[in-house]
Amino acid sequence: MAKPRVAFFDFSSCEGCQLTVSNCEDELLALVSHIDIVNFREIMTERSDEYDIAFIEGSCTRESEIPRLQKIRETAKVVVALGACATIGGINCLKNFHELEWVRQEVYGDKAHYFPTFEARPIDQVIKVDYYLHGCPIDRTEFLSLVKSVLMGAAFRPADYPVCVQCRMKENVCLYTQGKVCLGPIARAGCGAICPEFGDSCEACRGTVSSPNLPYMIAVLHEHGLSYEEARKMTGMFLGYRKFQDQIQQAENASLVD
Ligand code: SF4
Ligand code: SF4
Ligand code: SF4
Repeated sequence: MAKPRVAFFDFSSCEGCQLTVSNCEDELLALVSHIDIVNFREIMTERSDEYDIAFIEGSCTRESEIPRLQKIRETAKVVVALGACATIGGINCLKNFHELEWVRQEVYGDKAHYFPTFEARPIDQVIKVDYYLHGCPIDRTEFLSLVKSVLMGAAFRPADYPVCVQCRMKENVCLYTQGKVCLGPIARAGCGAICPEFGDSCEACRGTVSSPNLPYMIAVLHEHGLSYEEARKMTGMFLGYRKFQDQIQQAENASLVD
């Protein structure tokens, strides 16, 4: 039986998620005994436009990327959003907080007219996505487990409980008791709470759980000394896409009223 053909594509991203895949040295040989990688710019020069499974890294930040995404969707039987830029918009959405013309000028100066741009968005705002692999960057073990699910045609369900659960299981001392703040209560787990484990705040690089208690989160951040503007900045690092920011605005309004 022919092996499924797998292609990797990058849109607006740092390519760190593809790098994580290419760093799976110990597993790559086993992997290629099950799949044919036909397109992966970071590790090979050959490329093919015929593939069954497409891994898409990066968010959509330009109108010209829409037809390219649509073409991939038409070709692939399965589309996987790879990493925070693709799944939730990621740090590219930071630009959505500014006038886009100003952003272009800041980045490209007098060459700005060569680089049209629009509001950064996750790829499921443009095409249908079958599987999501969260994280900035993705976790290699989770990537391998997702590949297994895709090959078996099985569901792959990202964790839908907060980072706090993994953090408490590791018996980390909560950052809130150390005068810091953290988005762990609303952030989607799966990373093993790696940031709080090393003393850094979780900034929800995996997005939020499906029913985040945002009013409570905003109120807690506020109680711990953050102004609403600072809370918005903190949540904006990874949750900058409109969908999240609208929810956060509503939560902020609710917290202001209470
Ligand atoms: S999710 Fe993070 S590591 Fe992956 S491409 Fe985007 S910025 Fe880079
Ligand atoms: S440090 Fe963050 S993730 Fe850990 S328990 Fe406290 S709030 Fe939750
Ligand atoms: S702790 Fe939060 S920011 Fe850090 S990797 Fe996990 S989800 Fe991402």
